[in-house]
Amino acid sequence: MSVSHIIILQYETATVTVAKLEKFEAGKSGWYYQGCDQCTKRVTHKDGKFLCYANHETQKHVPRYKLEVHVVDSNHKAIFIFWDSDYAKLIGKSTNNLKTELVEAGEDDPLKFPYPLDSMLNKDLEIRIVYQPKYGRLVVVGFRYGEDSIKNLRDQFPT
Ligand SMILES: [Zn+2]
Repeated sequence: MSVSHIIILQYETATVTVAKLEKFEAGKSGWYYQGCDQCTKRVTHKDGKFLCYANHETQKHVPRYKLEVHVVDSNHKAIFIFWDSDYAKLIGKSTNNLKTELVEAGEDDPLKFPYPLDSMLNKDLEIRIVYQPKYGRLVVVGFRYGEDSIKNLRDQFPT
């Protein structure tokens, strides 16, 4: 389904689209957030401890990707939200590994999107997304990358 069709849906819908990742949305929070080490929720620092939104108390937090990416298909632009495990799979590098590399290179700035994140930009991807009309959000829940899968999908749904 094309992006222009998805964003007029009335109900929360899971669908597949082929689109290109164009660039990152440079938000205020940067390319990762401090997550819980027992679940994927965000932690806040409180009385020397970290507490996540599911009420896990933890001593250490782990960085996780949350990336808002400008995506373009044949005729429409939108912002897709990629969560941690999907983007890690996409670029083959966990948030923690990437952050550690940057810290070692003295370049750890959450607001500066590091170059390895760019490796998937400007390529066609088959992306499985959930559209949440209530929030106007497009959340990525999976993807496939490869000429064959994209060609199959294009043949199935000619534009
Ligand atoms: Zn948690």
